[in-house]
Amino acid sequence: MFKWGIRNRLMFSYLSLILITLLLLGAYILHFFYQHTLTSLTSQLLIQSEITEKLLAGQYDQPNTKAALDNTIKTISANTDIRISVIALDGTVIADSWENPGLMENHSTRPELIDAVEKGQGTSIRFSTTLGENLLYVATPIRHNSATIGVLRLATTLTHVNQGFAEIRSALIISFLVASLLAIFISNHIAKRYTAPLESITVTAQEISEGNLSTRVHLHTGDELDVLARTLNNLTANLEEKINEITEEKRKLELILQNTNSSILLLDRYGHMLDYNQAAKDTFSITPDMLRLHNVQIIGNGLFNTAFQQAVETKEKRSIDLKFENNGNRHAFLVSLSPIISSDCQVSAVLAVFHDITALKEIQEHQADFIANASHELATPLTGILGFAETLLDGAIEDQELSTKFVRIIQAEAHRMNRLVKDLLQIAKLDAQNYRINVKTEVLSLDPLVSQAINDLALQWRQKELTLTVEAPPSPLSVLANADWLKQVFINLLDNAVKYTPQSGTIRLSWSQKDKDAVFTITNSGMGIPASDLPRIFDRFYRVERSRTRSTGGTGLGLAIVKYIVEMFNGSIEAKSEVGVSTTFIVRLPLTPGTKI
Ligand code: ADP
Repeated sequence: MFKWGIRNRLMFSYLSLILITLLLLGAYILHFFYQHTLTSLTSQLLIQSEITEKLLAGQYDQPNTKAALDNTIKTISANTDIRISVIALDGTVIADSWENPGLMENHSTRPELIDAVEKGQGTSIRFSTTLGENLLYVATPIRHNSATIGVLRLATTLTHVNQGFAEIRSALIISFLVASLLAIFISNHIAKRYTAPLESITVTAQEISEGNLSTRVHLHTGDELDVLARTLNNLTANLEEKINEITEEKRKLELILQNTNSSILLLDRYGHMLDYNQAAKDTFSITPDMLRLHNVQIIGNGLFNTAFQQAVETKEKRSIDLKFENNGNRHAFLVSLSPIISSDCQVSAVLAVFHDITALKEIQEHQADFIANASHELATPLTGILGFAETLLDGAIEDQELSTKFVRIIQAEAHRMNRLVKDLLQIAKLDAQNYRINVKTEVLSLDPLVSQAINDLALQWRQKELTLTVEAPPSPLSVLANADWLKQVFINLLDNAVKYTPQSGTIRLSWSQKDKDAVFTITNSGMGIPASDLPRIFDRFYRVERSRTRSTGGTGLGLAIVKYIVEMFNGSIEAKSEVGVSTTFIVRLPLTPGTKI
């Protein structure tokens, strides 16, 4: 992960400390050993030198001094590895235990000799060319009758010292290697102990940074790392909670945006689309590759773009009415453009909400049509009434026969107006959703209601000598409805049948059960309704031929009322007709539960 992790650095530090200490200690021990051995060897040689000097004391004034001395020192050093030399002050070797003194060179320049004469003793380590090894030389003066007459020199090989030194050095190197291995192991162990919690925290922190917020550090070191781990855990828990809250909020917002009926576009400050909801996708036929396109390329409306620019410039909400055509369907929108202001008071984006007011506009148009139609329908008989009343007042009232005729016309027009107002009141009632929801319903049998309608209109259909046939089912059918309104359905349909059936024609009424519905059918002979008019005959004020209905006194509202009522009781109505032959209306109403199917 890292080139030099904390663990490696710690381990290297521990290792360096241990190894440098061991090296220094080893070097000191070696040095100390060597010096100590040399010092003790030197002092031994000095003692031995003094003892030898005492042993040789009586031989200096002998006649055959040189030979005697040479013999004596050869005898003394015979079984030792000590070389004894007796040297005159002028450097002449008088006697030597290992060599022939006569063949030996002058020793006056030897440092140990000079020191012995000048300082009372002298030592020196030198490579002996004669023996081919290092020797330790110790020299002391020889005194006779209180005068220095020569120098006694003892020398010994340093082979033992060097051997001892080499052995200790080997032992120290082995110890150093073993200690190094142990040091590696221990420093690794210690470094691991200290860095393992840190590594655990690091790994967890990395997981957190990668988005895994459910992860936690599990440490019980009881030190500052423990506090750090707890803090990290708390931090992560808080972060997780906050992110969960934000995610939940975002999800809710997305749900609202996606399920709202209004089309929503999010545009950047330059007018490019950043996001959109499902409704916008459907309305503007947006495909994913249209993201980041300019609004003009998506909506293609200059008015919208102008309003958008104004919203960006003024940093204030703008609302406009917009008409838009998509796939041949015309849409009317109330568009609100809300700038989103960032912390530096700049417009970062604009939210465009398109409220579809197409239906509202249609209702408004229908209402305007309805008012115009109603006014027109009312104006026609009213004009008649006014006209005839004025004619009467202008003198026609004097003519008994004419005045009776005019008053009858006024009465007929007044009736027509009365019917129109009644129908309008019914439409107004049925139009109110609140009324439709709260209308009282009960289980009703169709038979008596149809019979009542037939009786109520008996005068009319008998006058026209119509043949009425009724086909009722063997067992009565019940539906859930309001008696007055349902009777109105049968009256309106039968009234139309009577009105549009020629003299001596036929009307057939039948009702029966089909699946879960009661199906009421009324067929009358006669002129019929052209196929092009059939889809519109349930519209308000729609009449097939105004002239045709003029004589019948129709308002054009009867079938609209029927459709309203039938749908209020969860039913349906349809019309079939063959021009010049017959017209049939079929009403379907759900049977009440419990009716045998
Ligand atoms: P109206 O008061 O004019 O009868 P309706 O809404 O009841 O109004 O009927 C609409 C139009 O449908 C009528 O004007 C008439 O032309 C036609 N119509 C309705 N019922 C029949 C029928 N049984 N036979 C033929 N035409 C009919």
